[in-house]
Amino acid sequence: MLNDSLSKTLNEQLNFELYSAHVYLAIAAYCSGESLDGFANFFMVQAEEEKFHAMKLYKYLNDRGKRVTMEGMDTPNNEYTSILEAFEHAYEHEQEVTRRIYHLSDIAMNDREHATIQFLKWFIDEQVEEEAMFDSIINKLKRIDKDSNAFFMMDSEFALRTFTPPAL
Ligand code: MG
Repeated sequence: MLNDSLSKTLNEQLNFELYSAHVYLAIAAYCSGESLDGFANFFMVQAEEEKFHAMKLYKYLNDRGKRVTMEGMDTPNNEYTSILEAFEHAYEHEQEVTRRIYHLSDIAMNDREHATIQFLKWFIDEQVEEEAMFDSIINKLKRIDKDSNAFFMMDSEFALRTFTPPAL
């Protein structure tokens, strides 16, 4: 049986994953406004991933007999001065997600809630990937700097990113 404090924090995380989708859609909209359709696609796909993360938590809470509740969310940042700044914001956001997942894991370990510890392992691995991906893109963008050919090549490359949802 999941205790109320742990299930409340899992429900908060579900809502935070949806907020992440909101943050990335706002970045996608900024990119679209700059006619950078590849970068916009990258962030739209990222938003899809975040919705998938939220649904994973939704299913888990339901499977454990807990009632999911939806909360309101803050307005995300809609304005950026550059693509690099947008990616830096995304990277910081992912670091915040990681902190929250670790906090959840701490509670689960404290409660000796082994099923939840096991469930959260997927998110811990996912955060390693997310942070590595944003860190590597930021490094590339910094290296590209003012080379517009390389920049537009990256935009074309990101136009190809797709999301295929794995089984929940
Ligand atoms: Mg996520």
